[in-house]
Parts: sequence; structure tokens; C-alpha cells
Amino acid sequence: MAKETFEFQAETKQLLDLMIHSIYTNREIFLRELISNASDAMDKLHFESLTNRDMLEGNENYEIFLVPDKESKTLTISDSGIGMSRAEVVENIGTIAKSGTKAFMEQLAKAKEESGGTADKELIGQFGVGFYSAFMVAERVTIVTRRAGEQQATRWESAGDGSYTIEDAEKEQRGTTVTIHLAKEFTEGETDYTDTFELESLVKKYSDYVRYPIRMNVTTEEMPRDDEGKVIEGAEKIKKTELRTLNSMQPLWTRAKSEIKAEEYNDFFRDQFHEWEAPMEVFHTKAEGTVEYTALLEIPARAPFNLYQADYEPGIQLYSRHVFIMDKCKDLLPDYLRFVKGLVDSPDLSLNISRELLQQSRELKTIGRALEKNVLKALGKKLEKNREDYEKFWNEYGRMLKIGIYNSMYVGRDTVDKLKDLLLFHSSKEGALVSLKEYVARMPESQKSIYYATAKDQATIEQLPQMEQLRERGLEVLFLLDPVDEFAIETVHEYEGKNFHSISRGDLDLGDAESEAAKKETEDIAKANDDLIKDVKEAIGDKIAEVKISQRLRSSAVCLVADEAGPSLSMEQTFAEMNN
Ligand code: ADP
Ligand code: MG
Repeated sequence: MAKETFEFQAETKQLLDLMIHSIYTNREIFLRELISNASDAMDKLHFESLTNRDMLEGNENYEIFLVPDKESKTLTISDSGIGMSRAEVVENIGTIAKSGTKAFMEQLAKAKEESGGTADKELIGQFGVGFYSAFMVAERVTIVTRRAGEQQATRWESAGDGSYTIEDAEKEQRGTTVTIHLAKEFTEGETDYTDTFELESLVKKYSDYVRYPIRMNVTTEEMPRDDEGKVIEGAEKIKKTELRTLNSMQPLWTRAKSEIKAEEYNDFFRDQFHEWEAPMEVFHTKAEGTVEYTALLEIPARAPFNLYQADYEPGIQLYSRHVFIMDKCKDLLPDYLRFVKGLVDSPDLSLNISRELLQQSRELKTIGRALEKNVLKALGKKLEKNREDYEKFWNEYGRMLKIGIYNSMYVGRDTVDKLKDLLLFHSSKEGALVSLKEYVARMPESQKSIYYATAKDQATIEQLPQMEQLRERGLEVLFLLDPVDEFAIETVHEYEGKNFHSISRGDLDLGDAESEAAKKETEDIAKANDDLIKDVKEAIGDKIAEVKISQRLRSSAVCLVADEAGPSLSMEQTFAEMNN
């Protein structure tokens, strides 16, 4: 196919502009990004080759090569990964639909809004900014790539100025070669990316645990020595070139927990899972029971924007003996923990079985159950010991737990028992969040039920006529402000023997002497006003089920209540919205 020129999409141009013109100082991260792409590409090849060995083309070498060239002022990064077809180059490099970059742009827009437009420079370093970061140091970038198993190679080139070209090329080895034509300021002096020493230290700093060897020819100069090992003064230096592996390749999770600094965990999740803030919680567990495994999991500082969307994919990777097997595994943790990210490495997970079989494997289930327990235990402890942190967690992810409870209707009630103590609700007491345990602990003895009210906001509930009676008696009411709250409560059904009672549903039996007397009084009034009740019922007709004399009001004359057995008003509203 002939050479074609394409315009970048507007979004990409915007990103490029930011990369090139920001005065951001931490430009060195471009190397980490390109190495991480190379490593991803080899993971992909490895995974596909499990079911299609031909893709390896008889070459099972997985490695990343760095070639700095002072003469041509270039730095080349090659990998023996999966490579890309022409269409894939257009799709993956020409657009920023790809995960890391897209998330970056979204966070950036958000942060810009919050900071009034000043945040972008500091932010770049915190993200996995992706391939385009090459333009922070490049005048021009060339990619030559050939997809494993295919004949035709493709060449992509851009000066980062709004367009790029694509043409056919030749490439013997499968995989991708990215050549960075370095801008002048990066080929000399303090930041010289053609300097092997500089590159070696960058790899150590950012990419030490990359699972594949990162290799480079390193030339050193030495003074010649005589037979006794003494330097021969005045002689010409001897040049020695050796092929070095720059990274230790020891994955972070295989190291002892006690030796790992918080910083290292943070860097790991930033590089491997595109986090831009330090995790809220890190779990690093090793187990040697019936199933042996190591897990390194995190709860990200913030819930991803698409957590509640149907196409959300959980970020769990699986490894067997440090070899990557699978990304985005759905079947390790229950769905309500879908926000937990990280990886599990276990020799008991089989490398060579299909994705489907792996997801059903007994070992995976065993590991998942143990990890679920760990996570819930840690959350319980946080709630008890560090309320402020727990509420931060709750604000980000609480909704997911409530949905988990609601969905347990379909998968079995044990989820309810696991999660009910982790729930928090707003309440009429001090406007603070309260757990069910706390609520029940301060119930007066005469109170039989846990009272709750549902509405879109607190003010609406405060104005409910039904609130008057409860407030007068100092009874606490849970404020269910999110439609899913009521579904969750309905599913929990009872807590420590107390049932839940919506204050806008049926009769409020407040259980004390006062309300006994009131009940009697109501019956008397109802008898005396039989005719009035009939008249009202006739006048309104089918729109209501019943007209009743009630004690629940103080200053209001009438109120609408839901039937004891039927759905509450707000549930009816939710159902109506869902069916629209
Ligand atoms: P991300 O890595 O977060 O997906 P990048 O901007 O780093 O975002 O890369 C964009 C896409 O380009 C990758 O998802 C991948 O499909 C493709 N890509 C980049 N580098 C390589 C490579 N060395 N080999 C194969 N594909 C690559
Ligand atoms: Mg990347």
C-alpha cells in the first residue's frame, strides 16, 4: 500500500500540544512509557501464543533492546512483542481511545477545572501518559512494526505537528521498533538520552521490575594494565563493549513485604495500573495453604469514572510463577469488589488452559474467597479504628457495597451478612454517617424497629410530616438519599432482630405507652368521624387505597403514606425511572 498522510484527531493534537509545550521537567518518564508498552506487547504475544504457537515464528525470545546513537541523535527501543498491523497502528497510535491516555485526558480535564487551569504541568508525571510522551523529547518519532505471524510490516512517522504518515515497510523480526529522533537539548549535557549511563539509571529508576530483560550494549573505556595489574601511564584507552541487562526483573510482589517502601508500591500501581494517586489501601499477601499464591492488590484512591457502567472491566491480572497469564480477570473477586485492582501470582494456576476454564478453576475460587475475606476484614478494621479513612472509602465505593447487597438476592444471602456491618447511612442525629450497629446500640428499649425515610435530599425528609412525631420523641431516623439505599435495606431485612420500618409506610407503632393511648384515641376519633372518612374516600376515588385517621401528624393536616405491603413512594419513583 502507498504512503498515506493522516491528521491527528483534535483530542490527540491537544495532548501532543501539552506534551511538547509544557515546561514540565520530568520528561525522562517517556522511557518508562515506551518500555511499558514493549512489555505489554510481549505479554499479549505470550498470551496469544498459548493457543496459537505459530505466532512465535520459532523465536521464543522476549526482550527489549535499547540502542542509543550519538551520531544520528536517536534512541531506539525495540521489542519482540506482538507488533501491530497497519490497521492497528492507525487505531492504536493515531487515536487516543486507548485506556491509559484517555483516562489521563479525563483526569486532566477534571483537575484543570478544579485548579482553575494550572494543574497540568504537575500532573503529567503522575499518569501513565502513554506513547505520546515520546514527543516530550523528540523532534520526530518513527515506528516500524510487524504483527507476529504476519508478513507485511508498517512504518509510522510523525513530527508531532498535527499529522502522521503510514507506509509499508520491511521488518525481519516480529515486534515493534520505536526510534526517537531526539530534540537537540536531549543529546548533550545533563540530559543526554544517547548516554548509556543515563539510560541505565533511568531503567533502574523506573523499570527495574519489568518482567522481560531490557538490554543494551554498553561501551566502557579502560586504561591498559601491565602483567602486574598496574595501569600503563600514557597508553591509549581500551574500549570494551558488553551486552548488559539493565533491570533486575524481580517483580515487586515477590520481594519481602518488610523491605518494600510505600513509595515503591505507589510507583508500581502508577506504572502498572495507571494510577495517578497513591492507593487508598494496599494488600500484599502470601499464602501457602492448599493453594499457594501471592497477591498484591490495591483500593485506588478514587473510584474510576465508569465503575457503575455495564462495560466496566475489573483490573485484576493473573500470573503463574511470575509469568503473565491474563488481564482483567472477572472471576477472582465478587462483583461488589470490582474496584479492587492488582494481581495474583500462583503456581497453582495453570498457564496452558483457556481463559474460560481458568475462570472456573477451583484454585482461582479458593484464592478469591481468601482475598475477599482479607479485604472485608481490612475494611471492618478501618471502620472501627479509623473512621475518617473509612468514610473516605465509603464516599468513593459505598454505593458498590450497597449494590452488592441488593444483588445478593440473586446469589445468596451470605453476602448480606458479610456486608451489612460495613454499611453507613446518613441519619437524623447530628447529620453524621451511622452504621447499623451504632444505630441499634443507641435505640431506646421501647423502640422496636429501625426507622428510615427516603428522599432525594435531607431537607425533603426533614420536612416530612411524619418526622415530627419521631423528632419529638428523640427517635433516630436513617436518611436514605440514594435510591439504592432502600433496595439494600429491604434486602438486609433485619439487623440484630430489629426490622426496618419506613416512616412513610403504613402505621408507625412507636411501641411506648403514649402511642398505645394514642392508638385507642385514634380508633375513637375514626369511629366518630366515619362519615367524613367515607366522604373523603368518595371524593378522591381510586387514586388512593384508604383514608385513615392517624397520630403521626402534628402541625400538618394530612399526609400521603405508602401501603404497608407495597413498595415505598421512592421505590415506586425509582421503578418508574428505570422503566422509562
Ligand atoms: P496504553 O499503553 O495505556 O494502552 P499507549 O499510548 O502507551 O497507551 O499505547 C497505545 C497503544 O498503542 C497500546 O495500547 C498498544 O495497542 C499500542 N502500542 C504501543 N506501543 C506498542 C508496542 N511496542 N507494541 C505493540 N503495540 C504497541
Ligand atoms: Mg502504554
